[in-house]
Amino acid sequence: MKYDRTFNFSAGPAMMPEPVLEEIKEELLNYRGSGMSVMEMSHRSKVFQQIRDEAEADLRKLMGIPDNYKVLFVQGGGTLQFAMVPMNLLKNGVACYVETGNWSKKAIAEAKKYGDVKVVASSKDENFSYIPDCSDLDIPDNADYVYICENETINGTTFSVDKLPNTKGHVLVSDQSSMFLSRPCDVSKYGLIWAGVQKNVGPAGMSVVIVREDLIRDDLDPKTPIYMKYKTHADADSLYNTPNCWAIYCCGKVFKYLLNLGGLEVMEKMNQEKAKILYDYLDSSKLFKGSVRAEDRSLMNVPFVTGDADKDAAVVAATKEAGFDNLKGHKSVGGLRASIYNAMPKEGVEALVKFLKEYEEKNA
Ligand SMILES: *Cc1c(COP(=O)(O)O)cnc(C)c1O
Repeated sequence: MKYDRTFNFSAGPAMMPEPVLEEIKEELLNYRGSGMSVMEMSHRSKVFQQIRDEAEADLRKLMGIPDNYKVLFVQGGGTLQFAMVPMNLLKNGVACYVETGNWSKKAIAEAKKYGDVKVVASSKDENFSYIPDCSDLDIPDNADYVYICENETINGTTFSVDKLPNTKGHVLVSDQSSMFLSRPCDVSKYGLIWAGVQKNVGPAGMSVVIVREDLIRDDLDPKTPIYMKYKTHADADSLYNTPNCWAIYCCGKVFKYLLNLGGLEVMEKMNQEKAKILYDYLDSSKLFKGSVRAEDRSLMNVPFVTGDADKDAAVVAATKEAGFDNLKGHKSVGGLRASIYNAMPKEGVEALVKFLKEYEEKNA
């Protein structure tokens, strides 16, 4: 490999496409004859305005975002959105949350500060190893929205498109952080989608928020910080204050990269092929076992265990020795976790599976 880069299986920040990193490197000291780096550039400059506008236009094209939705680039990670969503969307003060793992639990805890939160479905009974049935939820008439974490990064579950909640006419809000742009998405089904970009798109420090215009309100609690109103960002094209220019620039490059690849259908097919290599091995292995119910498995985050904490630790150490990185599972699940986002090459997964197979044979 040209840059001697490791196959990095981190849950985030995570790998970015190598051609994108190379382009960034080329432009680092002098962006297209501007005489400066994007890092040094005024966010009010024409050059940066074009970077921002292209990023938004490319994302709109990639996802087919309808005209009545705003695209916002907001600083701060996913954790800020746990608060911004209830602060902006609670009108009647009631929200429904589906509890599928660590990140929906955090969203629930934060939302409880702002309103009456009803957990309408949960997979807690089996350590969040599946997606609960959301076809007939008990949603109060006055609920302002129904919230899901569409891919639980730690637990390794994903809502397949046909398992998305039946919200019975209520607004659907989705945290897509760890699956953003991994498959086609019908934006019109949602009121609001948000994603911290450091999992599947670019560098840390920013979230993309896609929100239907009629949900953007100005009649919020007057103590709401100006930065935390979606309206502030919507009215100013995400340039109310200095945005994360660097993240917007890098994400814009990834949006273009995905468009050139053929779009999200192509990306999804690649992700399916890639994940299958790992899941097929896990299903055939006598040493390892995937921790998620087959039909709810994530294409992005793959937790697996030996069933013995000491053995797990030995495997993690061996992967590290072999040049793979960040395969230790989260403490709430244990074992190992391979995050295989869009930018993880198929070769990375093949190499990991080859290694695990050999490890299993040697340690049988
Ligand atoms: C990582 C993650 C978050 C939190 O993101 P931060 O940027 O670290 O605050 C929220 N939701 C999901 C699904 C995540 O994977």
